[in-house]
Amino acid sequence: MEVLMRNFFQSLGKSPSANRLAKKYGLKFGASRFVAGSTIEQAIESVRQLNKEGKVVTLDHLGEFVFSEEEANESAAMCIKTLDAIAKAGVDSNLSLKMTSLGLDISRVLCMKNMRRILDRARMYGNFVRIDMEDYDHCQVSLDIYRELRQEYDNVGIVIQAYLYRTEQDIKDLNELHANLRLVKGAYKESSEVAFPIKKDVDENYVKIIQMHLSNGNYTAIASHDVEIINQTKTFVENRKVSRDQFEFQMLYGICEDLQKQLVDEGYKVRVYVPYGIDWFGYFMRRLAERPANAWFVLKNIFK
Ligand SMILES: Cc1cc2nc3c(=O)[nH]c(=O)nc-3n(C[C@H](O)[C@H](O)[C@H](O)COP(=O)(O)OP(=O)(O)OC[C@H]3O[C@@H](n4cnc5c(N)ncnc54)[C@H](O)[C@@H]3O)c2cc1C
Repeated sequence: MEVLMRNFFQSLGKSPSANRLAKKYGLKFGASRFVAGSTIEQAIESVRQLNKEGKVVTLDHLGEFVFSEEEANESAAMCIKTLDAIAKAGVDSNLSLKMTSLGLDISRVLCMKNMRRILDRARMYGNFVRIDMEDYDHCQVSLDIYRELRQEYDNVGIVIQAYLYRTEQDIKDLNELHANLRLVKGAYKESSEVAFPIKKDVDENYVKIIQMHLSNGNYTAIASHDVEIINQTKTFVENRKVSRDQFEFQMLYGICEDLQKQLVDEGYKVRVYVPYGIDWFGYFMRRLAERPANAWFVLKNIFK
């Protein structure tokens, strides 16, 4: 049953028509539990609150399924507006983005042009930009673009997903760039030809790549709500005397807030991923797929 629900939410999240329909109606079905609002003002207010609680943030202006150059440029403009708003408000947040929203599926040149616009603005503010990793079809091209940008920019990092077979090699290759990586388990529906189908194998690979990247001396963001993984990381960094400046824990807005607080109280750096914007549906579906028990919230909100 759980697998069926996971597949259902993952497929729905990928549907352009469902996404288009949802866009028209603002945050619905309890999505506001996971999405900080539709406007930049609401998002900045959430960042302010999280900063007060001792957490730093990465803001994500949600945008998926961009089909025209105009839409891609608009999306880049929203990223720039987000960086401007962060600087103006003086809050502690960097930016996360998806390259498909900047035109990756239209042309690599367009995507690069938009990435440079955003990275230039971030550099002007001394801020940092994280490239989220999307589905497997975009993995190689995303890494190629990251490599190219990394030659020109210090303020850019990318995400690596533990569920892919290729990941261990990617971690080895990215070491030469001293890549600042966010490491995750992986959120998309992938075939067993490219990704570990069994959770235990994903978890094992996840621990392995966290330890590899930290041992290589690179900055590592461990983005997970899995207490086991977090505890294993804590033990590893303590035993190896890894400085607390070399890593941070990251969690999603609205998820495992007690655990976030506990880590802050223990003196760890915790960054919360705060998504906002009208294009909330795909993100919301991925969160439901991760934990079909969350579907209860949807049902309760439909019948409210
Ligand atoms: C900051 C951040 C950024 C991310 N960026 C990307 C990215 O760029 N690309 C990508 O593919 N994936 C990304 N992910 C998603 C990631 O790949 C996983 O799908 C997600 O984090 C769930 O895995 P987990 O490590 O929390 O462990 P799991 O084993 O899935 O979960 C462990 C425990 O965490 C809790 N939990 C997990 N998810 C939820 C949820 N949705 N609702 C409520 N409780 C939950 C539950 O208690 C669960 O038992 C990101 C995750 C985070 C935290």
